[in-house]
Amino acid sequence: MKCAVCKEEIMQKNPEKCPYCGSAKFISEKDEVPIVLAEIKELKKAGKYEEAALKYEELEMWDKAKEIRELNMGKISTISMECPHCGVSQPLSSKSNEVTCKHCGKNYLIPSKILELL
Ligand SMILES: [Zn+2]
Ligand SMILES: [Zn+2]
Repeated sequence: MKCAVCKEEIMQKNPEKCPYCGSAKFISEKDEVPIVLAEIKELKKAGKYEEAALKYEELEMWDKAKEIRELNMGKISTISMECPHCGVSQPLSSKSNEVTCKHCGKNYLIPSKILELL
C-alpha cells in the first residue's frame, strides 16, 4: 500500500489516513499489479517486447524489464542466414531484405518469410 499523494510506503493493512501526510488516497499495489501483468502477457504474445519492458518498469520490476529486453535482443540475433556464396552464416539484425556477407562481401537477398520473424 502506498500513499497516492506523498508516495510513502504504508505498512498498515487498512489505513484510514496516510501517517505521513494525512491523505486518505492510497494506491493499492495488489489491485494494480495483476492488471498490468495481464497486459504485459498480451504484449509479449504480440511480440511487443519493448512496450512490455516499459510496463515492467512502471511496476519497478527492473529485473523483469531487463530480462525481456535481453529476450527481445536474443530473438533478433538468433535468426541467422547462410550466405549462398560462401556458406558462412551471420545473424540478421535489420529488416532490410538485402544483406552484405561479412565474410565474402557479396550481397544476398533474405526471403520475406524470414524477415517476418524479425
Ligand atoms: Zn502521504
Ligand atoms: Zn559470403
